Amino acid sequence: MARERQTLSRRSLLGGAAGAVTLTGLAAGTASAATRSADVAIVGGGLAGLTAARDLVAGGASVVVLEARDRVGGRVVNLKLANGGVTEGGGEFIGPTQNRIKALADSLGVATFTTYNTGNNLLYKDGKKTPYATDGLLGSVPPIDVAGLANAAAVQAELDGMAKQVPVDAPWTAAKAEEWDRQTFETWLRANAVIPSAKFLLDVACTSIFSAEPRELSLLYVLFYIAAAGDESHPGTLERLTDTAGGAQESRFVGGSQQVPIKLAATLGDRVVLNAPVRSIAKSGSQYVVTADGLTVNARRVVVAVPPPLAARITYDPLLPAARDQLGQRLPMGSIGKAIAIYDTPFWRADGLNGQVVSDSGTVRSTFDNSPPDASYGALMGFIEADQMRALDGASADQVRAAVLKDYATYFGDKAKSPTSFLLQRWDNEGFSRGGPVAYAPPGVLTQYGAALRAPVEGIHWAGTETSTYWTGYMDGAVRSGERVAKEVLPTL
Ligand SMILES: Cc1cc2nc3c(=O)[nH]c(=O)nc-3n(C[C@H](O)[C@H](O)[C@H](O)COP(=O)(O)OP(=O)(O)OC[C@H]3O[C@@H](n4cnc5c(N)ncnc54)[C@H](O)[C@@H]3O)c2cc1C
Repeated sequence: MARERQTLSRRSLLGGAAGAVTLTGLAAGTASAATRSADVAIVGGGLAGLTAARDLVAGGASVVVLEARDRVGGRVVNLKLANGGVTEGGGEFIGPTQNRIKALADSLGVATFTTYNTGNNLLYKDGKKTPYATDGLLGSVPPIDVAGLANAAAVQAELDGMAKQVPVDAPWTAAKAEEWDRQTFETWLRANAVIPSAKFLLDVACTSIFSAEPRELSLLYVLFYIAAAGDESHPGTLERLTDTAGGAQESRFVGGSQQVPIKLAATLGDRVVLNAPVRSIAKSGSQYVVTADGLTVNARRVVVAVPPPLAARITYDPLLPAARDQLGQRLPMGSIGKAIAIYDTPFWRADGLNGQVVSDSGTVRSTFDNSPPDASYGALMGFIEADQMRALDGASADQVRAAVLKDYATYFGDKAKSPTSFLLQRWDNEGFSRGGPVAYAPPGVLTQYGAALRAPVEGIHWAGTETSTYWTGYMDGAVRSGERVAKEVLPTL
């Protein structure tokens, strides 16, 4: 393997905490001024790209990670608060069976703490507030009518059973793949969640998990996602996706989730280049020329570790095979925003509430208590998802804030109207994410194009949470994909 070398002096500064490189002094039009060579060029400095870099370097390869933004972490970002604290604008929770993100965090010394989950959840439905305990017979299931509960339980069991028939490494090969991929989740729910209150629960679960409406998703894709919510020894379940205790929302990272990619990038030093959006990947003999703003990397292999619809915005020469290109045309990002209101105290706790709401109306229909472990201040985090996010496309930040605080006051009382600060992260407006939390599959895509998801195109390999077999869509899936792609690439060097 070639040792990493730099063909032109890199006009760079060591960047802040990440120890990453920021190219400076490269005026527009002089982008070809800097060139580097490496065994592998990695596109994207999210958890997937950084994990791939770590493992490739450990395997003796030289790498350059090209990250478009001025920070690492992609869909994981810490937001600084005026009071000196930190909250999270993107991925934040981890839970049981998410072993790879946990192992990575452990290796970097990033500790976890349990998501605040003491007291009652709140159901807001038909204009009525119903607090409910989650340690009873129903677990975390909101207390709807008995017929609805029975129907919802049957639907959940049915979905888990169907998911068991979906191979996580190739959902398109399931015996009923064609049948399940030609209908939306909505079509299936209408036939099975026949009691309106049960349909409501499944709808809320769907938008909370995917930030997409049931009408937008392939049933096969939903089953794959459920199947992927586990690990090699624990089959995935819907409950593990939706639950706080025992589920994907169980724990958080001390200091905020972006600590993980920031510390990981620091171990990679100047192999990580910020402010370097990749525009084209061209094959030249046995090499690839990866052209980013301000830097060109000549590499033997390329790892593209960005969501498929973002990968589709890069120019490839020669063109990608049609199946891969069309896959990229067909996997949209969900529509999601996160709104975090900061208060002097987590005042809802005194009312016996844990800050978690399930609601049938308003802009925010799902909330969490995002206060720090020592509760030195209060933080209410709400998701704005799917139709609710799209409805606010043209709204100003002030308008979104007003809509969110109105909901928080409905759920938690008038004190919620006056936060000390308010943060809003609108992922649909982020040029290098275009939505979130995941690029999902509408009907017909997995069966027609799924096989192209991970298949390398000569020396171009694909990573990113969307390519993961377990915990696709999650930070854990991103880490797993980085580990998998490094194993795939190393023997080819
Ligand atoms: C609001 C929200 C909430 C979420 N909640 C959770 C949660 O609680 N738990 C959980 O586990 N997961 C959660 N997720 C999902 C999780 O954040 C992602 O699955 C994970 O971070 C994806 O990592 P990745 O490396 O695959 O992709 P990304 O994080 O998207 O990384 C891709 C990187 O590539 C860069 N990039 C894009 N295009 C280019 C280009 N042309 N050139 C160079 N760089 C480029 C991007 O800037 C980005 O840094 C959430 C996501 C969102 C948005």
